Amino acid sequence: MLFGPGGAGKGTVAARLVAEDPRLWLSRSWTTRERRPGEPEDAYVFVDRSTFEARAAAGGFLEWAEFLGHLYGTPVADPVPGRDVLLEIDLQGARQVRHLRPDATLILLLPPSPAVQAERLRARGDDEAHIARRLAEGAAEERSGRAIADAVVVNGTVAQATAEVAGILADHRTGTA
Ligand code: 5GP
Repeated sequence: MLFGPGGAGKGTVAARLVAEDPRLWLSRSWTTRERRPGEPEDAYVFVDRSTFEARAAAGGFLEWAEFLGHLYGTPVADPVPGRDVLLEIDLQGARQVRHLRPDATLILLLPPSPAVQAERLRARGDDEAHIARRLAEGAAEERSGRAIADAVVVNGTVAQATAEVAGILADHRTGTA
């Protein structure tokens, strides 16, 4: 499971991992936030709050969290035989998964610097107030993230980060880590 702050590049690394490893299956989260301009339609299942809350009440999420005013959740999915589920979530979700699935591999993905993180958030259209909040929360998020992570990867380039994450997953599959 990949987790970490917004702007760390989780989505890009997750997409690359799935493209390179047919054994991985990327879980698609539900969210109540609006789709951003230019964001792919299948980035999330976009729903309104009452639809989300009904599914949550019915136990339909492995975990869910409220983040900056929007709800995000990982739907409970039937396991796909022979494939590992890749989750891409925030720190709150990671805590819940750590608890529910102690055997999960939790990889904390960090941006190489706050400046690069801010640039990535800006590039996808986040407003400055949102970016400032994200950066302010960054240090605390990193500290608590490190406390529950099995491994930490700094996302300098997509190729390097993807290779490191793939290596960690391979070690965990063979039981050497
Ligand atoms: P964004 O709105 O920028 O796409 O996502 C905001 C945050 O929510 C990111 O840190 C992202 O990883 C996290 N997120 C996305 N899907 C889920 C999910 O299913 N559960 C949780 N807990 N967080 C999620």
